[in-house]
Amino acid sequence: MAVVWLDDVRADDLDLVGGKGASLGELTGAGLPVPPGFVVTASTYRAFIEDAGIDDELFAAVEVDHEDSAALKEAHEAAHDLIMETPMPDDVREEILDAYRSVGEGDAFVAVRSSATAEDLPDASFAGQQETFLNVTEEDLLDRVKECWASLFSERAIYYRNRKGFPHDKVDIAVVVQQMVDAEKSGVMFTRHPSTGKKEIIIEAAWGLGEAVVSGTVSPDNYVVSRETGEVETATIADKKTMCVRDEETGETVMRDVPNDRRHERVLTDDEVSRLLELGELVEDHYETPQDVEWAVYEGEVYMLQSRPITTIAEGDGEEGESDSGGSSRATATGDDVLIRGLGASPGIASGRARIVTKLDHLDQVAEGDIIVTEMTMPDMVPAMKRAAGIVTDEGGMTSHAAIVSRELGVPAVVGTGDGTKTLEDGEIITIDGDKGTIREGEEPEEKQRQPVEEARPKTPVKPMTATEVKVNVSIPEAGERAAATGADGVGLLRIEHMVLTLGKTPERFIEQNGERAYVDEIVSGVREVAEEFYPRPVRVRTLDAPTDEFRQLEGGENEPREHNPMLGYRGIRRGLDNPSVFRLELQAFRRLFDMGYDNLEVMFPLVNDAEDVLRAKEHMREAGIDPEKREWGVMIETPAAALCIEELADAGIDFASFGTNDLTQYTLAVDRNNEHVADIYDELHPAVLKLIGDTIETCREVGVKTSICGQAGSKPKMVQFLVDKGVSSISANIDAVRDVQHEVKRVEQRLLLDSVR
Ligand code: PEP
Ligand code: MG
Repeated sequence: MAVVWLDDVRADDLDLVGGKGASLGELTGAGLPVPPGFVVTASTYRAFIEDAGIDDELFAAVEVDHEDSAALKEAHEAAHDLIMETPMPDDVREEILDAYRSVGEGDAFVAVRSSATAEDLPDASFAGQQETFLNVTEEDLLDRVKECWASLFSERAIYYRNRKGFPHDKVDIAVVVQQMVDAEKSGVMFTRHPSTGKKEIIIEAAWGLGEAVVSGTVSPDNYVVSRETGEVETATIADKKTMCVRDEETGETVMRDVPNDRRHERVLTDDEVSRLLELGELVEDHYETPQDVEWAVYEGEVYMLQSRPITTIAEGDGEEGESDSGGSSRATATGDDVLIRGLGASPGIASGRARIVTKLDHLDQVAEGDIIVTEMTMPDMVPAMKRAAGIVTDEGGMTSHAAIVSRELGVPAVVGTGDGTKTLEDGEIITIDGDKGTIREGEEPEEKQRQPVEEARPKTPVKPMTATEVKVNVSIPEAGERAAATGADGVGLLRIEHMVLTLGKTPERFIEQNGERAYVDEIVSGVREVAEEFYPRPVRVRTLDAPTDEFRQLEGGENEPREHNPMLGYRGIRRGLDNPSVFRLELQAFRRLFDMGYDNLEVMFPLVNDAEDVLRAKEHMREAGIDPEKREWGVMIETPAAALCIEELADAGIDFASFGTNDLTQYTLAVDRNNEHVADIYDELHPAVLKLIGDTIETCREVGVKTSICGQAGSKPKMVQFLVDKGVSSISANIDAVRDVQHEVKRVEQRLLLDSVR
């Protein structure tokens, strides 16, 4: 049997029909209105490559150096051609075509979607890497099925599997063929409030096919419906400028302008809302858990296209429909026995054995699930930090290495405890709360331990549509994948310090021993990982900005200047301009990435003070072969001087200015950002800091320079409110905060809109 009907598929048929096929089958079986269709099974694909004898050749062709883009392209083309040129066996062709002819009237438009399976390797089939074709007819159906098979070997898919070490022969692919619903309207529905868990249905709806809503290219209407009364409690009607439709002539999916009279028209009728409510109840009952559903309306019928559990609702919330916190039921760990406190730097609750790690210790003492307790984390601790269940440090603030890296790794952390390494005992069981900043004795029951928030977010489809862009910060290239999964509009700050510090040597020493090309290669490889992950979303990469004390720990660090206060010292653009030997190599690395086609990169300079800094940096860009007129580039606003000189910086030609509030706060208030003794007066919302930011945004708006924030404060609701009010162009937040920031931005924007019409 080459195909199975969705009616005969159930959730546990994953190996046969892949994730997408299994979920659609389960919904069909539950009697929910799913457009009819069938699945060309994963074993059909496997038999195709094995019976034709192309399997070995196929897998050998894609064993290439994934960092070599030419080799990657060649591998993809070889695999693609092999699959496309190998004839499909007659019996398989017939079976697929027969099945197709039984769908609809026999000449239906169908959607052909890849549905990958990955035995024992749940992460190996990366969402979005395989093809989907809409509006397919009999004529090209078989080719489209083969295209789906071949998409298992897209450059991106080969790159990922090679990089992650996933064997190519362990991933198979099924293909779902399903009648197209030529949707007049479509959208998504949550059967509970996705963060508070309140018992209400939230529906987002727009005209045309659902792609526009899911991909975020249109602002949908938003309806909140009470599940008690069935009443629409609020209906926010959006200005829906575009819609995704099937072109009558070509059958292709295209974007069209919404006719003027329908732009502000309410999408859903009361009957449709009632039907969605009914289906929402049914699907939630079926799965016994709140659902996040994609739906479409065609000729008055509501169809369900996809359903996934909502996992954002924290335990205990929402049952009574009252909680509004979005937080979790964080029971106290083991009573009130707080051993020590610090700053909650990376959210989540974790229990484990405390492992006191002094700088000289071997990190292999840290076992899976231990909690690292150390003075301050170092770049070479990252492998151990990945194994750890949590991190505790004596030193550091919210913007220290430990805090930034823990957040990106998704490991709960408490920093700046003062004397954690002395107070806690090696081997004792502790529970850390990365939100409250507490460390308690004993173990929290498994079910009360909590993963970082975004782990629990729905991965797709909905992100709140906002006019202000919401981006994400990245410091460790391997966090790129997690960062991209947030649905952020790009990377507002990609730091390269971590890439450089993990070389274990100062850049000068590394270059001395390995040559300039090797340094450029290192930067290219790290930045590329993130640029690729986000492509074509923009990625703002910054030249090096590590203070000398961070370099001192590395080989070659003995040559670093001795400074009383490295934070005020030889770092950022001032170092780059004073001794450009390393700086220009970083720019060359960016140039190479542009040459490789990563036109989504933007260049940013740290710690500038005035126009002279900017003009000199711009000249270096030119020398490296980057045309400042053609590429987006800009500066960080991290010193009061830069904020006060913004007009001159704008005249120097910058496209954007990004507030680095971690530094701007310390330089405005004279409070060392990494000094736990003054952490309580380190306040990014201090009126002086806000005045500098507010005035800078105002000037930038007048002179047409985009503004952004990439300091830690961009993840704080109060700062978000302030910035959106002032008209900032984008906000870049931590991975774990992106979704909340998107919601906060949307809330403020809606309030501003309401205020303007009242
Ligand atoms: C900042 O200063 O706010 C910033 C984002 O840069 P860094 O934290 O790397 O100094
Ligand atoms: Mg800074």
